[in-house]
Amino acid sequence: MTEKIGFIGMGIMGQPMAANLVTKGYAVMVYNRSADKTKLLADLGAKVAMTPKEVGEWAQVVFLMLTGPEAINDTLRGPDGLLAGLPSGGVIVNMSTVPPAYSRTLAGDLAQQGITLIDAPVSGSKKPAEEGTLVILASGPEEAVNQLESVFLGMGKKVVYCGIAGNGSAMKMTVNLLLGAMMAGLSEAVQFGERCGLGADIIINTILSSPLGCGLYNLKAEMLRNNQFPAQFPLKHMFKDLGFVLETAEQHHTKTPLGNAVYALYQQGMAAGLGEMDFAAVKKVLAAM
Ligand code: NAP
Repeated sequence: MTEKIGFIGMGIMGQPMAANLVTKGYAVMVYNRSADKTKLLADLGAKVAMTPKEVGEWAQVVFLMLTGPEAINDTLRGPDGLLAGLPSGGVIVNMSTVPPAYSRTLAGDLAQQGITLIDAPVSGSKKPAEEGTLVILASGPEEAVNQLESVFLGMGKKVVYCGIAGNGSAMKMTVNLLLGAMMAGLSEAVQFGERCGLGADIIINTILSSPLGCGLYNLKAEMLRNNQFPAQFPLKHMFKDLGFVLETAEQHHTKTPLGNAVYALYQQGMAAGLGEMDFAAVKKVLAAM
């Protein structure tokens, strides 16, 4: 068992993920830029650091669950940054969603300082994070990933080993391309059916009882029935991730016509001020058309 675990980023996902590690008996030190979000973890018995550097000085392995590349760079660098505290031989596990190219560059930069990067984004949102049923898309040196398996399984139900660092992020892009399209597809179908005179309830019940029923649609059914979209996976993050998908598609000379179309829908959601709502609020974009 890894004795001392650092966890940086106490957002929607980071808080329940770190809480699960504390509950499973790991010694955890947390940090968040906005200090108020560390309260839940402090109450559970986690140590709270004042800077990322302090986390690096204490922990053997440090998990990051931050918005994206900019937040990670801000956390790693500077006199109070994580790299100012983490010695050579340390391990950073980035679970934030980032482009694969960013992960590969970061892995190379950290290797020069003797630090191993494990690129391990997650599939699943707030509820699976709370229930410890995330799917972890891990990549990087296989031995290092294997050594952390029990820690990963403290937060998730399955670890998928994807290969070299960057491949976990590539898998995450693949999954979120489908996720963005599936949510937009359900929203458009419900919107269409409603305009044809059907109620949201009967449309959703029909879809759920047909071969189209799936975990995602079950999770989002209540939001569409009530037209209320409290954030589990905020629309601003889906917009960010689809931007990464399009950027990655270009780098790999592949076309994503559906991805481009749904990116434009989430972009309209951002312009309409829906960024803090769940990404299922793409339904509001379609309704406003
Ligand atoms: P969130 O609630 O918005 O939390 C973002 C975290 O990043 C907060 O701790 C925030 O600190 C920190 N942060 C942002 N900018 C920063 C900066 N410049 N410097 C330092 N810290 C900064 O996001 P989340 O939903 O937990 O998602 C975290 C990551 O997981 C994202 O990459 C997201 O795409 C991915 N993800 C999310 C879900 C989901 O369903 N929510 C599912 C799978 C993957 P403050 O509190 O100070 O703002």
